[in-house]
Amino acid sequence: MALIVHKYGGTSMGSTERIRNVAKRVAKWARAGHQMVVVPSAMSGETNRLLGLARELQPEGHSAQLARELDMIASTGEQVSVGLLAIALQAEGLEAVSYAGWQVPIRTDSAYTKARIESIDDIRVRADLAAGKVVVITGFQGIDGEGHITTLGRGGSDTSAVAVAAAMKAAECLIYTDVDGVYTTDPRVVPEARRLQAISFEEMLEMASLGSKVLQIRSVEFAGKYRVPLRVLSSFTPWDIPLAEEAVSGTLITFEEDENMEQAIVSGIAFNRDEAKISLLGVADKPGIAYQILGPVADANIDVDMIIQNVAHDGRTDFSFTVHRNDYARTLELLKSAVQPLTHAAQITGDAKICKVSIVGIGMRSHVGVASRMFRTLSEEGINIQMISTSEIKTSVVIDEKYMELAVRALHKAFGLDAPPAATAA
Ligand code: ADP
Ligand code: ASP
Ligand code: MG
Repeated sequence: MALIVHKYGGTSMGSTERIRNVAKRVAKWARAGHQMVVVPSAMSGETNRLLGLARELQPEGHSAQLARELDMIASTGEQVSVGLLAIALQAEGLEAVSYAGWQVPIRTDSAYTKARIESIDDIRVRADLAAGKVVVITGFQGIDGEGHITTLGRGGSDTSAVAVAAAMKAAECLIYTDVDGVYTTDPRVVPEARRLQAISFEEMLEMASLGSKVLQIRSVEFAGKYRVPLRVLSSFTPWDIPLAEEAVSGTLITFEEDENMEQAIVSGIAFNRDEAKISLLGVADKPGIAYQILGPVADANIDVDMIIQNVAHDGRTDFSFTVHRNDYARTLELLKSAVQPLTHAAQITGDAKICKVSIVGIGMRSHVGVASRMFRTLSEEGINIQMISTSEIKTSVVIDEKYMELAVRALHKAFGLDAPPAATAA
């Protein structure tokens, strides 16, 4: 008997019929003797619907007051889900109780719409488990030090589940979703993508941070920090498949590289359409220029991702960086008002129609020529690279957004990640 956390995403919770299936699956685990904590997301489309309502009424801009109300609104999606799931579990003959984040409580900081979990009180949940109940806790939300409801950023239920698993010292956290594991790239973009049986924690962290939305990055960070055994698997298999079979299906996130892991140089390809590029042309090439440009950006709480400074000519240089698309207009405005007069930039330009494509793999540590193979593949497709950044286990490029799918497909093939074609019937 073990303490197990299950997380079910929006599609898995998408209708009462699907919720009934989730309840049957959880009941199977509970009847096998496990103590069960379940963390569901809002029903699919619900968070978007709720935020859409807010958008109809909200004024321009993004104040802290507005963000607080957005969290108040968005958090209700998960509250409906836990109640429905608890009823469905009761209908299966189990004792079940639902909690919103504040009731547990799951404590967070006050960064509305992107709050971080600080601590989770396990007393109430442990008492329920000891009394034989299945505990259903809202994903995506918590409560700050002042008693305000917060949310953890889009896709945040993954993080809730892993954090609950860490706090409860669960034997495993199972993330049930609408794909049957982590693939070499998003199977919606590359149908030839293959499921990985296992992926190293480091690779998963890179994949998530570079745009693979199958797991929210903070959930992977939590899993790493607290060594939570984590598995991604399908909620669309028949609920009554044998538990022993289900328990080893999907993709395991591993902390040790074992010999069973596939030894590919590149394990996966991630992409991200959420960034925008900003360039300052003809700024003075002198000490302190990067700080003069990026200091005010950091002070405005805007995260910068890739940065390039070109070789100088005649004492002048060009400087480019990327920010999240949501911060694009604000950053341009800030640069024009606060930074242009200081740096004497001849021109400030921006491009929101870019994307970042990345290859990820721990094999890159011990192999040379991987980045050059990436550049060659893109050049053969006639795709211009605008920016490059590398680390030990990844290489990322910024390209025109219209070539994203082409680039991902070409790289997937070039690095031998395509699944062998299915055997055709004679
Ligand atoms: P949930 O609602 O269950 O949290 P998400 O939509 O957040 O589900 O995440 C699952 C989706 O992630 C899949 O449907 C798939 O399109 C996408 N995805 C992106 N990259 C990958 C990848 N490398 N492997 C598997 N799925 C991926
Ligand atoms: N419901 C939230 C969202 O749509 C959280 C989640 O699904 O993980 O982003
Ligand atoms: Mg998700």
